Amino acid sequence: MARTINDIVIAGAGQAGARAAEALRARGFKGSITMIGDEPHPPYERPQLSKAMLQSADVPVAYIKQAQDWNEALDIRIQTGSAAIDGDADRRIVSTADGRRFPFDALLLATGTRPRRLPALDDTQLEVQYLRNVEDALRFRRHIRARSRTVIVGGGVIGLEAACAAAKGGCHVTVIENEARLLARAFPIVISDLVADRHRNHGVTFVFGATVTGSSARSVTLSNGAEIAADLVLIGIGVCPSSDLASRLGLPVADGIAVDACGRTAAPGIFCAGDAALQWSRCHGRAIRVETWANAQNQAIAVAANMIGETRDYSDPPWFWTDQYDLNIQVAGDMRDAEHIARGDPDSGRFSIIAMRGTELVGALSVNAAKDLAMLRRIIAANAKPQRADLESPDYDLRTALRAP
Ligand code: FAD
Ligand code: NDP
Repeated sequence: MARTINDIVIAGAGQAGARAAEALRARGFKGSITMIGDEPHPPYERPQLSKAMLQSADVPVAYIKQAQDWNEALDIRIQTGSAAIDGDADRRIVSTADGRRFPFDALLLATGTRPRRLPALDDTQLEVQYLRNVEDALRFRRHIRARSRTVIVGGGVIGLEAACAAAKGGCHVTVIENEARLLARAFPIVISDLVADRHRNHGVTFVFGATVTGSSARSVTLSNGAEIAADLVLIGIGVCPSSDLASRLGLPVADGIAVDACGRTAAPGIFCAGDAALQWSRCHGRAIRVETWANAQNQAIAVAANMIGETRDYSDPPWFWTDQYDLNIQVAGDMRDAEHIARGDPDSGRFSIIAMRGTELVGALSVNAAKDLAMLRRIIAANAKPQRADLESPDYDLRTALRAP
């Protein structure tokens, strides 16, 4: 007989955790909801940390629905400032670093990710920081205001949004990227070049094919032998899943916590959503972790329903955006190992690139063309199959693809 769900514990008071808690109440769950968060804050969204909060001295942290009232109104108990570090999956209990124990009927692991460290700078005398939480953003904002000489390691989304804010704030910025181009993981080369040009126009310098191997009190040494003066080094070289608790619960952990389409882990009653979840992606043809705001929100909402006995598959194609200078770039699905079809004129500053594998539309990227991308996302989600010749035509109305039988 199915277990009655009275007590739900959510480990991780981030975006996925908060959205799951809201969804549980929205679906009529009347039992207890306890969120355990290791940060000293109520839940907040992270995109602001590398954008609005860095670009103005007085932008406050935007908490999810001003969380103080939010959790009282929804009767959600939030325990902040202490990590859930241990538990027993059979006895359905988790415990925190400060010794409290929380029994559960269902547990959501919403522990997210943490920045990948750069060991070469672990013991340096230089100022070094990562960009993951409110404190990191406030610290980096102070450096921008001081116009620090800023070295950024990693030419991915974090590094480039940080570089944009620092360059606009008047800092001298150098980005070190170990690939031969920017954003190599998800973006076609034409976009890497466009983004690099925009940064160079704002004074940013790039070093490609290199990493940081050492440092002195006021400089970093690179793998190519160069030395670059720095007051601050910001590291954005990717993230690792926060899966220690899952391991303690006996769950198999690889590059993430494996879940099925309903967000169920290998242990009965234990679910996972957000950055930490390793889930099947049709566009990618394999299981991946989706490190995006939209996934943290929408997967969590679907998984919350499953925690209280519904059966709701979640299979949204991955989607994220990045804002740098006057560029709003959005990516849906998977752009890699595919043929690319251009839509619109790159010289106009607004265009899209569509990724096809055979007859499958598996990915799309837009530059300042959010409406196009919204439609392309729907086409990917619906697994619709527009003809390549149609997509190549500048007059083709994307809505037609959704109407086709
Ligand atoms: P998180 O937001 O990381 O929340 C997990 C929480 O759990 C954290 O507070 C963590 O400290 C806590 N925790 C971990 N382990 C434990 C434990 N054992 N016990 C208790 N608490 C624990 N995505 C986009 O799509 N667009 C963007 O523009 C964008 N910008 C971003 C900018 C920055 C600077 C960052 C860092 C991320 C950005 N993202 C963006 C990614 C997006 O924010 C993440 O995908 C999203 O936050 C994931 O939500 P989550 O709840 O899974 O994890
Ligand atoms: P990314 O993986 O996007 O980018 C990291 C970049 O750093 C890659 O190009 C990587 O190259 C390079 N790199 C890795 N190791 C080194 C090294 N030792 N020296 C120099 N370069 C190196 O990660 P980020 O840190 O930029 O982003 C972290 C998280 O934040 C992600 O979860 C992301 O989704 C999220 N985020 C999202 C934003 C958005 O969507 N707008 C904005 C900001 C953050 P390689 O591929 O070879 O490893």
